[in-house]
Amino acid sequence: MQQIDVKSRVHWLELRLCLPADGVREAFPNTASCRERWVLMRWPGGVTCPLCEARDITHLESRQLYQCRTCRKQFSATAGTVAHQSRLDLRAWFIAAEDIIHAYSIGQETSRLTGHYLAQRYGISYTATHRFRKLLVSELRQPGGGLVGACVCIEPLSPIPVPGQSLEDRFDGLYHELWKRTSRAWRLI
Ligand SMILES: [Zn+2]
Repeated sequence: MQQIDVKSRVHWLELRLCLPADGVREAFPNTASCRERWVLMRWPGGVTCPLCEARDITHLESRQLYQCRTCRKQFSATAGTVAHQSRLDLRAWFIAAEDIIHAYSIGQETSRLTGHYLAQRYGISYTATHRFRKLLVSELRQPGGGLVGACVCIEPLSPIPVPGQSLEDRFDGLYHELWKRTSRAWRLI
Protein backbone atom coordinates (compact mmCIF):
# COMPACT_ATOMS: atom_id res chain seq x y z
CA MET A 1 0.00 0.00 0.00
CA GLN A 2 1.38 3.41 -0.93
CA GLN A 3 2.00 6.04 1.73
CA ILE A 4 -0.62 8.39 0.29
CA ASP A 5 -3.23 5.65 0.40
CA VAL A 6 -2.50 4.83 4.02
CA LYS A 7 -2.83 8.48 4.99
CA SER A 8 -6.14 8.75 3.19
CA ARG A 9 -7.47 5.49 4.63
CA VAL A 10 -6.48 6.60 8.15
CA HIS A 11 -8.45 9.80 7.58
CA TRP A 12 -11.58 7.96 6.45
CA LEU A 13 -11.30 5.33 9.19
CA GLU A 14 -11.02 8.03 11.84
CA LEU A 15 -14.18 9.65 10.52
CA ARG A 16 -15.94 6.30 10.39
CA LEU A 17 -15.13 5.43 13.98
CA CYS A 18 -16.63 8.74 15.10
CA LEU A 19 -19.97 8.22 13.34
CA PRO A 20 -22.95 7.75 15.66
CA ALA A 21 -22.96 4.19 17.01
CA ASP A 22 -26.59 3.65 15.94
CA GLY A 23 -26.18 5.43 12.62
CA VAL A 24 -26.91 8.91 11.34
CA ARG A 25 -30.61 8.21 10.79
CA GLU A 26 -31.11 7.40 14.47
CA ALA A 27 -28.93 10.24 15.74
CA PHE A 28 -30.57 12.81 13.46
CA PRO A 29 -34.16 11.65 12.96
CA ASN A 30 -35.42 14.78 11.17
CA THR A 31 -34.41 17.97 9.41
CA ALA A 32 -34.75 20.05 12.59
CA SER A 33 -32.17 17.94 14.45
CA CYS A 34 -29.77 18.21 11.49
CA ARG A 35 -30.25 21.95 11.28
CA GLU A 36 -29.63 22.36 15.01
CA ARG A 37 -26.40 20.37 14.79
CA TRP A 38 -25.32 22.25 11.65
CA VAL A 39 -25.81 25.67 13.27
CA LEU A 40 -23.96 24.58 16.41
CA MET A 41 -20.99 23.21 14.44
CA ARG A 42 -20.87 26.13 12.02
CA TRP A 43 -21.10 28.82 14.69
CA PRO A 44 -19.96 27.28 17.99
CA GLY A 45 -19.94 30.75 19.58
CA GLY A 46 -23.42 31.65 18.31
CA VAL A 47 -24.79 32.60 14.89
CA THR A 48 -22.50 35.17 13.28
CA CYS A 49 -23.19 37.51 10.35
CA PRO A 50 -21.14 36.41 7.32
CA LEU A 51 -20.83 40.02 6.19
CA CYS A 52 -19.95 42.08 9.28
CA GLU A 53 -19.33 39.27 11.81
CA ALA A 54 -21.77 40.76 14.29
CA ARG A 55 -23.51 38.34 16.64
CA ASP A 56 -26.66 40.32 17.16
CA ILE A 57 -28.88 38.18 14.96
CA THR A 58 -32.62 37.70 14.58
CA HIS A 59 -33.95 34.31 13.56
CA LEU A 60 -36.73 34.63 10.97
CA GLU A 61 -38.12 31.24 11.81
CA SER A 62 -40.91 31.06 9.25
CA ARG A 63 -38.44 31.60 6.40
CA GLN A 64 -35.56 29.64 7.94
CA LEU A 65 -33.35 32.70 7.65
CA TYR A 66 -31.26 34.85 9.93
CA GLN A 67 -31.01 38.59 9.81
CA CYS A 68 -28.14 40.68 11.13
CA ARG A 69 -29.37 43.55 13.31
CA THR A 70 -26.24 45.54 12.55
CA CYS A 71 -26.01 45.46 8.74
CA ARG A 72 -29.50 43.99 8.01
CA LYS A 73 -28.07 41.16 5.90
CA GLN A 74 -30.29 38.10 5.61
CA PHE A 75 -28.63 34.71 5.34
CA SER A 76 -29.41 31.02 5.71
CA ALA A 77 -27.59 28.43 7.82
CA THR A 78 -26.08 26.92 4.69
CA ALA A 79 -25.08 30.19 2.94
CA GLY A 80 -21.44 30.07 1.90
CA THR A 81 -21.07 26.38 2.79
CA VAL A 82 -20.92 23.23 0.68
CA ALA A 83 -24.71 22.81 1.01
CA HIS A 84 -25.45 26.35 -0.20
CA GLN A 85 -28.49 26.46 -2.49
CA SER A 86 -28.74 22.71 -2.49
CA ARG A 87 -32.12 21.29 -3.37
CA LEU A 88 -31.43 18.43 -1.04
CA ASP A 89 -32.54 18.52 2.55
CA LEU A 90 -29.75 18.80 5.13
CA ARG A 91 -30.62 15.34 6.40
CA ALA A 92 -29.82 13.92 2.96
CA TRP A 93 -26.39 15.54 3.24
CA PHE A 94 -25.87 13.91 6.63
CA ILE A 95 -26.97 10.48 5.41
CA ALA A 96 -24.91 10.75 2.22
CA ALA A 97 -21.87 11.74 4.29
CA GLU A 98 -22.27 8.55 6.31
CA ASP A 99 -22.57 6.50 3.10
CA ILE A 100 -19.44 8.10 1.68
CA ILE A 101 -17.43 7.67 4.88
CA HIS A 102 -18.49 4.00 5.05
CA ALA A 103 -17.46 3.34 1.45
CA TYR A 104 -14.14 5.20 1.59
CA SER A 105 -13.12 3.75 4.95
CA ILE A 106 -13.11 0.26 3.47
CA GLY A 107 -11.83 1.28 0.03
CA GLN A 108 -15.12 0.49 -1.73
CA GLU A 109 -15.96 3.97 -3.00
CA THR A 110 -15.79 2.99 -6.66
CA SER A 111 -18.03 -0.04 -6.41
CA ARG A 112 -20.50 1.38 -3.90
CA LEU A 113 -21.02 5.02 -4.79
CA THR A 114 -22.14 4.71 -8.36
CA GLY A 115 -24.25 7.38 -10.04
CA HIS A 116 -27.22 5.04 -10.33
CA TYR A 117 -27.05 4.11 -6.65
CA LEU A 118 -26.87 7.74 -5.50
CA ALA A 119 -29.60 8.88 -7.92
CA GLN A 120 -31.98 6.26 -6.61
CA ARG A 121 -31.08 6.71 -2.97
CA TYR A 122 -31.40 10.49 -2.89
CA GLY A 123 -34.03 11.00 -5.55
CA ILE A 124 -31.78 13.20 -7.66
CA SER A 125 -30.96 13.02 -11.34
CA TYR A 126 -28.09 10.88 -12.51
CA THR A 127 -26.24 13.99 -13.71
CA ALA A 128 -26.70 15.74 -10.35
CA THR A 129 -25.08 12.82 -8.52
CA HIS A 130 -21.67 13.64 -9.95
CA ARG A 131 -21.60 17.17 -8.55
CA PHE A 132 -23.18 16.14 -5.25
CA ARG A 133 -20.65 13.39 -4.69
CA LYS A 134 -17.73 15.57 -5.73
CA LEU A 135 -18.74 18.39 -3.38
CA LEU A 136 -19.33 16.09 -0.45
CA VAL A 137 -16.16 14.05 -0.90
CA SER A 138 -13.98 17.16 -1.15
CA GLU A 139 -15.65 18.56 1.99
CA LEU A 140 -15.12 15.30 3.88
CA ARG A 141 -11.47 15.12 2.79
CA GLN A 142 -10.74 18.24 4.84
CA PRO A 143 -9.21 17.78 8.30
CA GLY A 144 -11.93 16.42 10.57
CA GLY A 145 -14.20 16.03 7.56
CA GLY A 146 -14.96 19.75 7.24
CA LEU A 147 -18.27 21.12 8.46
CA VAL A 148 -20.27 18.10 7.30
CA GLY A 149 -17.80 15.75 9.00
CA ALA A 150 -18.02 17.77 12.21
CA CYS A 151 -21.81 17.43 12.05
CA VAL A 152 -22.02 13.67 11.61
CA CYS A 153 -18.94 12.58 13.58
CA ILE A 154 -20.39 12.88 17.05
CA GLU A 155 -18.52 10.14 18.91
CA PRO A 156 -15.10 10.74 20.50
CA LEU A 157 -12.24 9.32 18.45
CA SER A 158 -11.12 5.93 19.71
CA PRO A 159 -8.39 4.72 19.58
CA ILE A 160 -6.74 8.11 19.93
CA PRO A 161 -3.52 8.69 17.93
CA VAL A 162 -0.31 7.70 19.72
CA PRO A 163 2.58 10.20 19.36
CA GLY A 164 5.36 8.84 17.18
CA GLN A 165 3.21 6.02 15.81
CA SER A 166 3.78 5.17 12.14
CA LEU A 167 0.91 5.64 9.71
CA GLU A 168 0.86 1.91 9.06
CA ASP A 169 0.49 1.13 12.77
CA ARG A 170 -2.19 3.77 13.08
CA PHE A 171 -4.02 2.24 10.15
CA ASP A 172 -3.76 -1.26 11.66
CA GLY A 173 -5.08 -0.01 15.01
CA LEU A 174 -8.05 1.75 13.44
CA TYR A 175 -8.85 -1.16 11.17
CA HIS A 176 -8.72 -3.59 14.07
CA GLU A 177 -11.11 -1.36 16.03
CA LEU A 178 -13.52 -1.24 13.09
CA TRP A 179 -13.32 -4.99 12.72
CA LYS A 180 -14.03 -5.44 16.47
CA ARG A 181 -17.06 -3.17 16.34
CA THR A 182 -18.41 -4.70 13.18
CA SER A 183 -18.10 -8.26 14.43
CA ARG A 184 -19.71 -7.24 17.73
CA ALA A 185 -22.63 -5.76 15.76
CA TRP A 186 -22.96 -8.97 13.77
CA ARG A 187 -23.05 -11.08 16.91
CA LEU A 188 -25.99 -9.02 18.19
CA ILE A 189 -28.13 -9.77 15.15
ZN1 LIG B 1 -24.02 41.97 9.55
